[in-house]
Amino acid sequence: AKNKRGNYYQLYKENIQRMDNRALEMETKLYKAIHQDLLELHYQPKIDIKSNKMIGMEALLRWHDSELGQIPPNKFIPIAEESGLICDIGEWVLRKASLQIKQWKEQYGLNLRVAVNISPTHFEEPCFIDRLKSIIEETNVEPKNLEIEITELSMMHYNNELINKIKKLKDLGLTISIDDFGTGYSSLSYLKNFPVDTLKIDRSFIVSMIDGDSNIAMVSAIISLAHALKMNVVAEGVETEYELEILKKHHCEFVQGYYFSKPLCVSDFNRFLEDNR
Ligand code: C2E
Ligand code: CA
Ligand code: CA
Ligand code: CA
Repeated sequence: AKNKRGNYYQLYKENIQRMDNRALEMETKLYKAIHQDLLELHYQPKIDIKSNKMIGMEALLRWHDSELGQIPPNKFIPIAEESGLICDIGEWVLRKASLQIKQWKEQYGLNLRVAVNISPTHFEEPCFIDRLKSIIEETNVEPKNLEIEITELSMMHYNNELINKIKKLKDLGLTISIDDFGTGYSSLSYLKNFPVDTLKIDRSFIVSMIDGDSNIAMVSAIISLAHALKMNVVAEGVETEYELEILKKHHCEFVQGYYFSKPLCVSDFNRFLEDNR
């Protein structure tokens, strides 16, 4: 028995170490990827449900490592969060997206809004606004072309500081979306205190609509709530005609999802823009 316990412990220790090593390896690689410009942004269109026109896009981070291959954001964002790299990543994304907005404006006369995902940890940094301001100045992007997506999670422990931060963003001319709405289990009362522009209904709600009327009623209630608070609604992860039709019927204004387009790299996006000119 003693032996066995020893073995279990040994195994446990090795596993922990292996996990640590892998996380550490990824962290080191990620650090290099940020500073050697090995990350990439893909862009997914947001579509006006009535006109079928593109009204903007969301920038989504992609990381390809020569040894580890393609690593999905759901894997490396948590590591970045824990190691503090997330602020560097967030700033890289803001800068990159801002430069792309300018590029598209010059190349195609495109004047759309690009949304960038900002992690709660980064958003809560006291210097977030000042750093954002300097990125805006440095890249010369028009703030009205920039949107910040923050998850409902960021809103959970809301206080005056958070409200002031959102107000500052608005004063700068940016717009703000609440991401993954409905998954945070937070109190709804925060919504009316925040001057946010858009609410993004989490994909899990959209997927669930096929399972029955009560799920559709949920989505419909979220849309009504948003409208009552003078917010727009984006439905996330729309894949089917069925989902699109129900959302249309319940007065959702914008959709995003594979039904219209996957997130595209810049060269594919440019081709898409040229084809739809
Ligand atoms: P998110 O912000 O909720 O982004 C939407 C995710 O859904 C993206 O996954 C997108 O590719 C995917 N998606 C879009 N349409 C569909 C669809 O029709 N069906 C399905 N099944 N999926 C769809 P992705 O790119 O893998 O990103 C996952 C998450 O990683 C994001 O969720 C976001 O939380 C995080 N993330 C991505 N880029 C960044 C970034 O630059 N910064 C930060 N902080 N987080 C990021
Ligand atoms: Ca998002
Ligand atoms: Ca989302
Ligand atoms: Ca999500």
